[in-house]
Amino acid sequence: MTDEFDPEVLATEELRRLFPERPELPNQSPLKPVQLTGSDTIRFHCHPGVSCFNVCCKSINIQLTPYDIIRLKRRLGLDAADFVARYTVPFEMDQHGMPGLRLAVKPGTSECAFLGEEGCTVYEDRPTACRYYPLGNMGVRKVGESEVEELYFLVQERHCKGHDEPRTISIDDYRAEQEVQPYEEMNADWREIVLKKRSAGPTIGAPSARSLQLFDMCSYDMENFRRFTQSPGFNEMFDLDAETRARLDSDDDEYLLDFAMDFLRQVLFGEQRIPKREGADQMRYSQRREVIERKREEARRAHRLEDPRDLAED
Ligand code: SF4
Ligand code: SF4
Repeated sequence: MTDEFDPEVLATEELRRLFPERPELPNQSPLKPVQLTGSDTIRFHCHPGVSCFNVCCKSINIQLTPYDIIRLKRRLGLDAADFVARYTVPFEMDQHGMPGLRLAVKPGTSECAFLGEEGCTVYEDRPTACRYYPLGNMGVRKVGESEVEELYFLVQERHCKGHDEPRTISIDDYRAEQEVQPYEEMNADWREIVLKKRSAGPTIGAPSARSLQLFDMCSYDMENFRRFTQSPGFNEMFDLDAETRARLDSDDDEYLLDFAMDFLRQVLFGEQRIPKREGADQMRYSQRREVIERKREEARRAHRLEDPRDLAED
């Protein structure tokens, strides 16, 4: 069976994306990705006694996932939109402008906004990338298979002395130690959507501005997405049972994120995840036609007012 992607090329690209070169750190070694599985072992231990403690937090380039945002905004008692405005920097994940967010740095530095005197001030809710370091991971789907296979890579940067510590640990045990499982589970759908969008390639064409806005809201703006599900337009289109409605209206962000990913799959890829009301598509089509006709008529009138001969005819 042929790989849909060249894992080696993708691995290098993914690692460069996750761990871009940081010239301000001395003795930076080039990345040498080696493909690993969960049962492979690494030599690594990060603890407050290492001479480089917190060095990695002083020069960050960390991409945030939807579940990172839920955990951090909840810890800080903020709405997702407030958290995003205060603690993130937007960037484009691909050439089509798929929106991504990076963790903000302190003004005038490359130091993480959450680094304090004693270390990480949000440690229990630190982002996925901080938990994984010094591992990179990526999903690769093979042609004809629906499952995404997880691959791991060790990143050995010279400033990181954790690699000299006398401890070996399997990747699976390291993931358990870093408590990445809930992050992996909550982000799995989102990562797959991003992967599917990226691998769609130029034949599918650029996504519309509307679909990028929906991706942004579903990924990073939970409270706004909840309000969207409560809007008349949404409820005219979708037929939600009482239990789903109640859970969406509650403060269960994890449930809301799962639902948001179902909604994205439906909108972006036409997967039928959320039941629609009978005749909803036809009704929406008629409404859209009415709007288009109205706009056309307005444009025709504007043109006639610009042309004095047309006015005379009136
Ligand atoms: S969130 Fe915490 S662990 Fe991650 S870079 Fe910032 S200070 Fe370091
Ligand atoms: S050992 Fe590596 S991960 Fe731990 S503080 Fe040092 S540089 Fe950061």
